[in-house]
Amino acid sequence: MTATIIDGKAFAARIRDQVAQHVARLKAEHDLVPGLAVVLVGEDPASQVYVRSKGKQTVEVGMASFEHRLDADTSEGNLLALIDQLNTDPHVHGILVQLPLPAHLDSDLVINRIAPAKDVDGFHISNVGLLGTGQKSMVPCTPLGSLMMLRDHLGSLSGLNAVVVGRSNIVGKPMAQLLLGDSCTVTIAHSRTRDLASVCRGADILVAAVGRPEMIPGDWIKPGATVIDVGINRIERDGKPRLVGDVHFDSAAAVAGAITPVPGGVGPMTIACLLANTLTAACRANDLPEPDGLTA
Ligand code: NDP
Repeated sequence: MTATIIDGKAFAARIRDQVAQHVARLKAEHDLVPGLAVVLVGEDPASQVYVRSKGKQTVEVGMASFEHRLDADTSEGNLLALIDQLNTDPHVHGILVQLPLPAHLDSDLVINRIAPAKDVDGFHISNVGLLGTGQKSMVPCTPLGSLMMLRDHLGSLSGLNAVVVGRSNIVGKPMAQLLLGDSCTVTIAHSRTRDLASVCRGADILVAAVGRPEMIPGDWIKPGATVIDVGINRIERDGKPRLVGDVHFDSAAAVAGAITPVPGGVGPMTIACLLANTLTAACRANDLPEPDGLTA
Protein backbone atom coordinates (compact mmCIF):
# COMPACT_ATOMS: atom_id res chain seq x y z
CA MET A 1 0.00 0.00 0.00
CA THR A 2 1.37 3.43 -0.90
CA ALA A 3 -1.46 5.84 -0.11
CA THR A 4 -1.62 7.97 3.01
CA ILE A 5 -4.74 7.04 4.96
CA ILE A 6 -6.76 10.13 5.80
CA ASP A 7 -7.97 9.48 9.33
CA GLY A 8 -11.47 10.95 9.57
CA LYS A 9 -11.93 9.71 13.12
CA ALA A 10 -8.93 11.65 14.41
CA PHE A 11 -9.81 14.72 12.29
CA ALA A 12 -13.40 14.68 13.59
CA ALA A 13 -12.09 14.51 17.17
CA ARG A 14 -9.98 17.64 16.48
CA ILE A 15 -13.02 19.47 15.13
CA ARG A 16 -15.11 18.48 18.16
CA ASP A 17 -12.33 19.79 20.45
CA GLN A 18 -12.24 23.07 18.54
CA VAL A 19 -16.05 23.34 18.76
CA ALA A 20 -16.02 22.51 22.49
CA GLN A 21 -13.41 25.21 23.20
CA HIS A 22 -15.40 27.82 21.29
CA VAL A 23 -18.63 26.78 23.02
CA ALA A 24 -16.94 27.15 26.41
CA ARG A 25 -15.85 30.70 25.46
CA LEU A 26 -19.38 31.60 24.30
CA LYS A 27 -20.73 30.44 27.65
CA ALA A 28 -18.12 32.24 29.72
CA GLU A 29 -18.06 35.51 27.76
CA HIS A 30 -21.61 35.81 26.40
CA ASP A 31 -23.74 33.45 28.52
CA LEU A 32 -24.68 31.77 25.25
CA VAL A 33 -25.26 28.02 24.89
CA PRO A 34 -25.65 26.87 21.27
CA GLY A 35 -28.61 24.50 20.91
CA LEU A 36 -29.39 21.82 18.34
CA ALA A 37 -32.92 20.42 17.90
CA VAL A 38 -33.24 17.08 16.15
CA VAL A 39 -36.63 15.91 14.93
CA LEU A 40 -37.22 12.21 14.33
CA VAL A 41 -40.46 10.97 12.79
CA GLY A 42 -41.13 7.25 13.15
CA GLU A 43 -38.96 4.42 14.35
CA ASP A 44 -36.52 3.64 11.54
CA PRO A 45 -33.71 1.79 13.39
CA ALA A 46 -30.82 3.40 11.46
CA SER A 47 -32.32 6.88 12.01
CA GLN A 48 -32.68 6.17 15.73
CA VAL A 49 -28.99 5.28 15.95
CA TYR A 50 -27.99 8.48 14.10
CA VAL A 51 -30.24 10.65 16.28
CA ARG A 52 -28.86 9.14 19.50
CA SER A 53 -25.31 9.66 18.33
CA LYS A 54 -26.00 13.27 17.32
CA GLY A 55 -27.59 14.03 20.70
CA LYS A 56 -24.70 12.46 22.62
CA GLN A 57 -22.01 14.33 20.68
CA THR A 58 -23.95 17.60 20.96
CA VAL A 59 -23.94 17.33 24.75
CA GLU A 60 -20.27 16.26 24.81
CA VAL A 61 -19.16 19.52 23.19
CA GLY A 62 -21.19 21.52 25.74
CA MET A 63 -24.14 22.43 23.56
CA ALA A 64 -27.82 21.93 24.38
CA SER A 65 -29.56 19.02 22.67
CA PHE A 66 -33.33 18.99 22.11
CA GLU A 67 -34.82 15.77 20.79
CA HIS A 68 -38.33 15.65 19.36
CA ARG A 69 -39.81 12.28 18.47
CA LEU A 70 -43.05 12.11 16.53
CA ASP A 71 -45.12 9.04 15.65
CA ALA A 72 -44.65 7.52 12.20
CA ASP A 73 -48.22 8.53 11.28
CA THR A 74 -47.90 12.13 12.48
CA SER A 75 -49.59 14.65 10.20
CA GLU A 76 -47.72 17.16 8.05
CA GLY A 77 -49.50 19.92 9.99
CA ASN A 78 -48.12 18.61 13.29
CA LEU A 79 -44.57 18.43 11.98
CA LEU A 80 -44.74 21.90 10.40
CA ALA A 81 -46.14 23.34 13.65
CA LEU A 82 -43.18 21.87 15.57
CA ILE A 83 -40.73 23.38 13.07
CA ASP A 84 -42.47 26.77 13.36
CA GLN A 85 -42.07 26.58 17.13
CA LEU A 86 -38.37 25.66 16.88
CA ASN A 87 -37.81 28.44 14.33
CA THR A 88 -38.81 31.02 16.93
CA ASP A 89 -37.21 29.36 19.99
CA PRO A 90 -34.19 31.50 20.99
CA HIS A 91 -32.47 28.50 22.64
CA VAL A 92 -32.48 26.58 19.35
CA HIS A 93 -29.79 27.67 16.87
CA GLY A 94 -29.83 24.59 14.65
CA ILE A 95 -32.72 22.38 13.47
CA LEU A 96 -32.28 19.02 11.82
CA VAL A 97 -35.11 16.86 10.56
CA GLN A 98 -33.82 13.31 10.27
CA LEU A 99 -34.32 11.91 6.76
CA PRO A 100 -35.82 9.85 5.26
CA LEU A 101 -39.31 10.90 6.36
CA PRO A 102 -42.27 8.51 6.12
CA ALA A 103 -43.75 8.47 2.61
CA HIS A 104 -46.86 10.56 3.46
CA LEU A 105 -44.68 13.57 4.38
CA ASP A 106 -43.25 15.89 1.72
CA SER A 107 -39.53 16.25 2.57
CA ASP A 108 -39.02 19.34 0.40
CA LEU A 109 -41.93 21.13 2.04
CA VAL A 110 -40.72 20.18 5.53
CA ILE A 111 -37.06 21.12 4.96
CA ASN A 112 -38.02 24.42 3.35
CA ARG A 113 -40.10 25.30 6.43
CA ILE A 114 -36.92 25.43 8.57
CA ALA A 115 -35.60 28.98 9.01
CA PRO A 116 -32.57 29.07 6.64
CA ALA A 117 -30.31 30.48 9.38
CA LYS A 118 -31.12 27.40 11.54
CA ASP A 119 -30.87 24.89 8.68
CA VAL A 120 -27.69 23.18 9.89
CA ASP A 121 -28.04 20.41 7.29
CA GLY A 122 -27.81 23.04 4.54
CA PHE A 123 -30.69 21.51 2.58
CA HIS A 124 -33.06 24.52 2.54
CA ILE A 125 -33.48 25.92 -0.97
CA SER A 126 -32.10 29.30 0.20
CA ASN A 127 -28.90 27.70 1.42
CA VAL A 128 -28.61 25.71 -1.81
CA GLY A 129 -28.91 28.98 -3.75
CA LEU A 130 -26.46 30.83 -1.52
CA LEU A 131 -23.87 28.05 -1.89
CA GLY A 132 -24.41 27.94 -5.65
CA THR A 133 -23.78 31.66 -5.94
CA GLY A 134 -20.75 31.65 -3.65
CA GLN A 135 -22.47 33.48 -0.78
CA LYS A 136 -22.30 32.77 2.94
CA SER A 137 -24.60 29.81 3.62
CA MET A 138 -25.13 26.74 5.76
CA VAL A 139 -23.14 24.03 4.00
CA PRO A 140 -24.29 20.36 3.98
CA CYS A 141 -22.26 18.42 6.54
CA THR A 142 -20.88 15.50 4.52
CA PRO A 143 -19.51 17.64 1.66
CA LEU A 144 -18.18 20.16 4.20
CA GLY A 145 -16.32 17.40 6.07
CA SER A 146 -14.93 16.08 2.78
CA LEU A 147 -13.74 19.56 1.80
CA MET A 148 -12.04 20.03 5.16
CA MET A 149 -10.13 16.77 4.71
CA LEU A 150 -9.06 17.74 1.19
CA ARG A 151 -7.84 21.18 2.31
CA ASP A 152 -6.03 19.68 5.27
CA HIS A 153 -4.28 17.11 3.11
CA LEU A 154 -3.60 19.13 -0.05
CA GLY A 155 -3.52 22.77 1.04
CA SER A 156 -4.72 24.73 -1.99
CA LEU A 157 -7.06 22.87 -4.33
CA SER A 158 -6.82 25.54 -7.01
CA GLY A 159 -6.53 24.26 -10.57
CA LEU A 160 -6.87 20.57 -9.67
CA ASN A 161 -9.16 18.29 -11.69
CA ALA A 162 -11.91 17.05 -9.40
CA VAL A 163 -14.38 14.33 -10.32
CA VAL A 164 -17.45 13.80 -8.17
CA VAL A 165 -19.25 10.52 -8.87
CA GLY A 166 -22.89 11.00 -7.81
CA ARG A 167 -25.22 13.97 -8.26
CA SER A 168 -27.52 13.79 -5.24
CA ASN A 169 -28.74 16.99 -3.63
CA ILE A 170 -27.23 16.06 -0.28
CA VAL A 171 -23.75 14.97 -1.35
CA GLY A 172 -22.77 15.09 -5.04
CA LYS A 173 -24.09 18.50 -6.09
CA PRO A 174 -23.00 20.50 -3.00
CA MET A 175 -19.61 18.73 -3.08
CA ALA A 176 -19.14 19.88 -6.66
CA GLN A 177 -20.11 23.46 -5.71
CA LEU A 178 -17.59 23.49 -2.87
CA LEU A 179 -14.80 22.19 -5.10
CA LEU A 180 -15.69 24.82 -7.71
CA GLY A 181 -15.56 27.42 -4.94
CA ASP A 182 -12.01 26.29 -4.23
CA SER A 183 -11.17 26.73 -7.95
CA CYS A 184 -11.04 23.09 -8.98
CA THR A 185 -12.01 22.09 -12.50
CA VAL A 186 -15.04 19.99 -11.66
CA THR A 187 -16.74 17.10 -13.45
CA ILE A 188 -19.92 15.56 -12.02
CA ALA A 189 -20.43 11.95 -13.10
CA HIS A 190 -23.58 9.85 -12.62
CA SER A 191 -25.32 6.71 -13.78
CA ARG A 192 -25.54 7.92 -17.39
CA THR A 193 -21.90 8.99 -17.66
CA ARG A 194 -20.12 7.36 -20.59
CA ASP A 195 -16.79 5.64 -19.92
CA LEU A 196 -16.75 6.43 -16.22
CA ALA A 197 -13.37 4.71 -15.90
CA SER A 198 -11.57 7.26 -18.07
CA VAL A 199 -13.44 10.17 -16.46
CA CYS A 200 -12.18 8.96 -13.07
CA ARG A 201 -8.64 8.46 -14.39
CA GLY A 202 -8.44 12.21 -15.10
CA ALA A 203 -9.11 13.11 -11.45
CA ASP A 204 -6.52 14.63 -9.14
CA ILE A 205 -9.35 14.55 -6.59
CA LEU A 206 -11.90 11.76 -6.81
CA VAL A 207 -15.01 11.91 -4.62
CA ALA A 208 -17.20 8.80 -4.73
CA ALA A 209 -20.80 9.26 -3.52
CA VAL A 210 -22.75 6.53 -5.24
CA GLY A 211 -23.93 3.87 -2.80
CA ARG A 212 -22.55 0.85 -4.72
CA PRO A 213 -20.10 -1.34 -2.82
CA GLU A 214 -16.50 -1.14 -4.11
CA MET A 215 -17.56 -0.15 -7.65
CA ILE A 216 -14.45 1.99 -8.28
CA PRO A 217 -11.36 -0.20 -8.68
CA GLY A 218 -7.73 0.88 -8.35
CA ASP A 219 -7.13 0.95 -12.09
CA TRP A 220 -9.68 3.82 -12.44
CA ILE A 221 -7.51 5.97 -10.21
CA LYS A 222 -4.79 8.35 -11.36
CA PRO A 223 -1.50 7.57 -9.59
CA GLY A 224 -1.10 9.94 -6.66
CA ALA A 225 -4.74 11.13 -6.66
CA THR A 226 -6.58 12.00 -3.46
CA VAL A 227 -9.65 9.80 -3.01
CA ILE A 228 -12.57 10.68 -0.78
CA ASP A 229 -14.91 7.72 -0.38
CA VAL A 230 -18.30 8.93 0.86
CA GLY A 231 -20.08 5.63 0.26
CA ILE A 232 -21.36 3.59 3.18
CA ASN A 233 -22.48 0.16 2.07
CA ARG A 234 -23.46 -2.74 4.29
CA ILE A 235 -22.38 -6.07 2.84
CA GLU A 236 -21.71 -9.57 4.07
CA ARG A 237 -18.24 -11.04 3.55
CA ASP A 238 -17.03 -14.41 4.84
CA GLY A 239 -20.35 -14.71 6.62
CA LYS A 240 -19.84 -11.48 8.58
CA PRO A 241 -21.50 -8.07 8.19
CA ARG A 242 -19.08 -5.39 6.96
CA LEU A 243 -19.13 -1.74 5.96
CA VAL A 244 -17.41 -0.87 2.70
CA GLY A 245 -17.18 2.25 0.58
CA ASP A 246 -17.83 2.89 -3.09
CA VAL A 247 -14.10 2.48 -3.79
CA HIS A 248 -12.28 -0.85 -3.72
CA PHE A 249 -9.97 0.13 -0.89
CA ASP A 250 -7.02 -2.26 -1.29
CA SER A 251 -6.52 -1.79 -5.03
CA ALA A 252 -7.13 1.99 -4.77
CA ALA A 253 -4.72 2.42 -1.87
CA ALA A 254 -1.97 0.84 -4.00
CA VAL A 255 -2.29 3.67 -6.56
CA ALA A 256 -3.70 6.75 -4.82
CA GLY A 257 -1.66 9.36 -3.00
CA ALA A 258 -4.19 9.49 -0.18
CA ILE A 259 -7.52 7.85 0.57
CA THR A 260 -10.25 7.90 3.20
CA PRO A 261 -11.14 4.49 4.68
CA VAL A 262 -14.65 3.16 5.29
CA PRO A 263 -15.44 3.13 8.13
CA GLY A 264 -13.37 5.86 9.79
CA GLY A 265 -13.15 8.36 6.92
CA VAL A 266 -15.94 10.71 5.87
CA GLY A 267 -18.52 9.17 8.27
CA PRO A 268 -17.21 10.65 11.54
CA MET A 269 -16.67 14.03 9.85
CA THR A 270 -20.39 14.38 9.11
CA ILE A 271 -21.56 14.70 12.73
CA ALA A 272 -18.51 16.81 13.61
CA CYS A 273 -19.53 19.24 10.86
CA LEU A 274 -23.11 19.24 12.14
CA LEU A 275 -21.78 20.47 15.49
CA ALA A 276 -19.58 23.00 13.70
CA ASN A 277 -22.60 24.26 11.72
CA THR A 278 -24.66 24.61 14.91
CA LEU A 279 -21.87 26.66 16.49
CA THR A 280 -21.63 28.80 13.35
CA ALA A 281 -25.42 29.34 13.39
CA ALA A 282 -25.32 30.39 17.07
CA CYS A 283 -22.51 32.89 16.38
CA ARG A 284 -24.30 34.36 13.36
CA ALA A 285 -27.60 34.64 15.28
CA ASN A 286 -25.84 36.68 17.96
CA ASP A 287 -23.62 38.79 15.66
CA LEU A 288 -20.50 37.21 17.10
CA PRO A 289 -17.37 36.27 15.13
CA GLU A 290 -17.48 32.80 13.60
CA PRO A 291 -14.86 30.22 14.57
CA ASP A 292 -11.95 29.90 12.13
CA GLY A 293 -11.71 26.93 9.79
CA LEU A 294 -15.12 25.43 10.53
CA THR A 295 -17.03 26.77 7.54
CA ALA A 296 -16.45 26.66 3.79
P1 NDP B 1 -28.12 8.79 -3.93
O1 NDP B 1 -28.66 7.40 -4.12
O2 NDP B 1 -29.05 9.90 -3.66
O3 NDP B 1 -27.25 9.18 -5.21
C1 NDP B 1 -26.38 8.26 -5.81
C2 NDP B 1 -25.76 8.87 -7.03
O4 NDP B 1 -24.91 7.87 -7.61
C3 NDP B 1 -26.78 9.27 -8.10
O5 NDP B 1 -26.47 10.53 -8.61
C4 NDP B 1 -26.61 8.18 -9.17
O6 NDP B 1 -26.77 8.65 -10.49
C5 NDP B 1 -25.16 7.79 -9.00
N1 NDP B 1 -24.93 6.43 -9.50
C6 NDP B 1 -25.65 5.32 -9.21
N2 NDP B 1 -25.14 4.27 -9.87
C7 NDP B 1 -24.09 4.72 -10.57
C8 NDP B 1 -23.18 4.12 -11.46
N3 NDP B 1 -23.21 2.82 -11.74
N4 NDP B 1 -22.22 4.89 -12.01
C9 NDP B 1 -22.14 6.20 -11.72
N5 NDP B 1 -22.99 6.84 -10.89
C10 NDP B 1 -23.95 6.10 -10.32
O7 NDP B 1 -27.03 8.63 -2.77
P2 NDP B 1 -26.41 9.72 -1.76
O8 NDP B 1 -25.72 10.80 -2.50
O9 NDP B 1 -27.42 10.07 -0.73
O10 NDP B 1 -25.33 8.80 -1.03
C11 NDP B 1 -24.25 8.22 -1.75
C12 NDP B 1 -23.48 7.30 -0.81
O11 NDP B 1 -22.94 8.08 0.24
C13 NDP B 1 -24.33 6.22 -0.11
O12 NDP B 1 -23.52 5.06 0.06
C14 NDP B 1 -24.63 6.82 1.23
O13 NDP B 1 -24.84 5.83 2.21
C15 NDP B 1 -23.35 7.58 1.50
N6 NDP B 1 -23.51 8.70 2.41
C16 NDP B 1 -22.59 8.82 3.40
C17 NDP B 1 -22.65 9.86 4.30
C18 NDP B 1 -21.59 9.98 5.34
O14 NDP B 1 -21.83 10.53 6.38
N7 NDP B 1 -20.39 9.49 5.08
C19 NDP B 1 -23.74 10.84 4.26
C20 NDP B 1 -24.60 10.71 3.12
C21 NDP B 1 -24.49 9.64 2.25
P3 NDP B 1 -28.21 9.12 -11.08
O15 NDP B 1 -28.44 10.48 -10.49
O16 NDP B 1 -27.97 9.15 -12.54
O17 NDP B 1 -29.20 8.10 -10.63
